Amino acid sequence: MSVLDDNIQKAHAYMAPFREGGVMNHIDGDIVPAISGQWMDTICPVDGSVLEQVTMSGPKDVDRAVAAAKAAFPGWSKTPGAERRKILIKVAEAIEARAEEIAFIECMDTGQALRFMSKAALRGAANFRFFADQAPHAEDGQVTRTPTQMNTTTRRPIGPVGVITPWNTPFMLSTWKIAPALASGCTVVHKPAEFSPMTAKLLVEIAESAGLPKGVLNVVNGLGETAGKRLTEHPEIRAIAFVGESRTGSMIMKQGADTLKRVHFELGGKNPVIVFDDADMERALDAATFMIYSLNGERCTSSSRLLVQDTIYAEFTAKVAEVAKKIKIGHPLDPDTVVGPLIHPVHEKKVLSYFDTASAEGATIAAGGEKVGDTGCYVAPTLFTDATSDMAIAQEEIFGPVLTAIPFRDEAHALEIANSVQYGLAAYVWTQDLDRAIHMTDNLEAGMMWVNSDNIRHLPTPFGGVKSSGIGRDGGDWSFDFYMETVNVCFPRAPHKIPKLGA
Ligand code: NAD
Repeated sequence: MSVLDDNIQKAHAYMAPFREGGVMNHIDGDIVPAISGQWMDTICPVDGSVLEQVTMSGPKDVDRAVAAAKAAFPGWSKTPGAERRKILIKVAEAIEARAEEIAFIECMDTGQALRFMSKAALRGAANFRFFADQAPHAEDGQVTRTPTQMNTTTRRPIGPVGVITPWNTPFMLSTWKIAPALASGCTVVHKPAEFSPMTAKLLVEIAESAGLPKGVLNVVNGLGETAGKRLTEHPEIRAIAFVGESRTGSMIMKQGADTLKRVHFELGGKNPVIVFDDADMERALDAATFMIYSLNGERCTSSSRLLVQDTIYAEFTAKVAEVAKKIKIGHPLDPDTVVGPLIHPVHEKKVLSYFDTASAEGATIAAGGEKVGDTGCYVAPTLFTDATSDMAIAQEEIFGPVLTAIPFRDEAHALEIANSVQYGLAAYVWTQDLDRAIHMTDNLEAGMMWVNSDNIRHLPTPFGGVKSSGIGRDGGDWSFDFYMETVNVCFPRAPHKIPKLGA
């Protein structure tokens, strides 16, 4: 039996428990179907087959989950930080112990290649460890004194929160939002993406078996327009942590307005990788191609715009095309696969539509530009050249293995092109010139920038975007600032004069 056959067999064995009743909600420790009794399918993008039935929740299911999160809040928020830390470290250990299972199921549900998903599952555990370690001092603040006053500033968990996640690397992204919420002392209602609901079920089950009390983390499956909407409108939900498209973020902001919801948004991107002619070509090539063709290009920080100095544009883009043509496309559970199928036929259709757009706009398709095979959502790694900044392929987030290459003359021209989009999530700069690197990073409109590097994450650093790419920052202590309220208490140090009225 080949490694792939063996992996497929293992994946089906891992998914067997799902067969007992499909993917249900998880509320107050109970596995329950939606009240309506309605179901939807989650499909495997490898061949379009139905992987599992998923319960389709409505507003009443969300209300039930919120009631559970509300009831669990007093207990969890008053649990000492050191105790919360212990439980969350156990969750991290349990994720590590089941990392293969998580990765295999994620591959089948999303089409992402195993070589990346095995690391994503472990990164989920790392997220839990990192935020767990901060739980014991999350409430700490500062003391400020005047001759007559002592002010003590502390933080307290904001209350039950809603976490709404997208379908790209769903397990890792969910832990990135849920772990700091739990470490802060908040309770959570999680609404996973309808295209990839399977590993959210695993996460809550793993967390509870590791000791997380019932009701602290609840999962409600369903559509964004119904279940997601109710969560954002619910008066008992104090904040919404959302990862997804920019226009969904805008809808959530409107939906949450009546209840003055605090929001944290991680949204779309059209991130430039800017290569100057003094750059280390080989490293720049490796990083640029890795950042667009790994994870199927379904990655918010993907380098989806390649800006190359005109002196090396032809040579550099020819090398990118060569790499793109050699990338192995295949079954996500094949250890050699780099690009697997896109998440869903609906998304595949959107990505494929940009091939016609590129031709209509006058760009050249230098690599890919086509669907691969008759079954499954496979799209060839693609490179558009001869593009200009005003084209839709240079402005819109395609969210697939599709790279748009644009030439530039000098620093000013590179900045003008880089900043010409509505997004501002990440940017990558390649140059050996330190002054130039500083000038570029001082003027690029992006929340995160890497110089002479691909995207290397360090959890204590801030993660987030500017412009239409987001509001707020995750990572380090920034996550705690979102999930907690800062409060100040003032004590007198000595009697001071209080105005007497009506004397
Ligand atoms: P999406 O916005 O379509 O859906 C995300 C989630 O929002 C899903 O769970 C969906 O059900 C829910 N939703 C949809 N409409 C809603 C509504 N009206 N009210 C409440 N919830 C609603 O995004 P997607 O297609 O699943 O994910 C891809 C997008 O996510 C891309 O734009 C990508 O760039 C972005 N993303 C950003 C980051 C980041 O850190 N900035 C990370 C990953 C993905």
